[in-house]
Amino acid sequence: MREDKNRYGFSCGDRDEIRIEGLEVYARHGVFPEETSLGQKFFVNATLYTDCRRAGKSDDLSLSTDYGAVCQVIHRFLTDHTYRLLEAACENLARKLLLEFPGVQGLTLEIRKPSAPIPLPFASVSVTVTRGWRRAVVACGSNMGDKEQYIETAVHKIADDMNCRIVRRADRIVTKPYGGVEQDDFVNGALLIETLYEPEELLEFLNRLETEAGRERIVHWGPRTLDLDLIFYGDEIIRTGKLTVPHPDMCNRDFVLTPLAQIVPDWIHPLYGKSVTVLLEELQTRAKQPAKADER
Ligand code: ATP
Ligand code: CA
Ligand code: CA
Repeated sequence: MREDKNRYGFSCGDRDEIRIEGLEVYARHGVFPEETSLGQKFFVNATLYTDCRRAGKSDDLSLSTDYGAVCQVIHRFLTDHTYRLLEAACENLARKLLLEFPGVQGLTLEIRKPSAPIPLPFASVSVTVTRGWRRAVVACGSNMGDKEQYIETAVHKIADDMNCRIVRRADRIVTKPYGGVEQDDFVNGALLIETLYEPEELLEFLNRLETEAGRERIVHWGPRTLDLDLIFYGDEIIRTGKLTVPHPDMCNRDFVLTPLAQIVPDWIHPLYGKSVTVLLEELQTRAKQPAKADER
């Protein structure tokens, strides 16, 4: 699998861009009452990160992102809403565009306000944000009740959430329990998704799905209706009290690496600099070696 990424980590063809410059919109964003009552001119610059190759080869508008339509959405959104802050206008407009135009993997959006109420000579003030769909890998497991159904329901809920889209799904496998607790076999799988959630938001969402599946945490590594672990989030390395990414024990787990090797074989572990395929081969080699104690 080839993972093309632009400098922000969005996957998007060969770093193609569509640019909109200086789109003028008369709107009512601002903190001061006269700004929201009288309004003023805003100018929008947008760079859309998208794959232009298919549209380029076919010359077919339906395969491209229609920048005329993008301009209309920007115009309508900024005139229909009133935000106090340019930051809020940018944040919400970026999200609207990412949801409305599926071919846009990411975007850089600048909103300029040349008539901002500043009692000094100045050319313009602006806020710029870069937002986009991020790729993440989620591992799923179940070893209680209707295991397949718990996983199936979770996959549907992820697919139905507007902040997530499923790119690839691994075949489910049956595995022996891990971690020494006597319990039923597991069904395991994995998903490659694209998401607008930040890592912590994604974890909260996954935890919510576990709760909805009746997950109870009684024994660590014990039986569970549904377990959803965040394995990778782009190439980010995260260590907060609540979240560790990449998942700290993934390299020791056949039941994680086997499904991953099917859907993201070339994904490079950002800490070890090795692909999923290599990590799985190394784990299988270690598993074949006799334990140190036996060697003596
Ligand atoms: P393991 O994480 O070793 O697979 P587990 O899945 O049984 O064990 P849980 O009880 O599901 O563990 O999770 C315990 C806590 O781990 C969660 O509350 C969550 O905040 C935290 N956590 C940290 N990093 C991650 C991650 N990458 N994915 C999922 N949960 C994580
Ligand atoms: Ca787990
Ligand atoms: Ca977990």
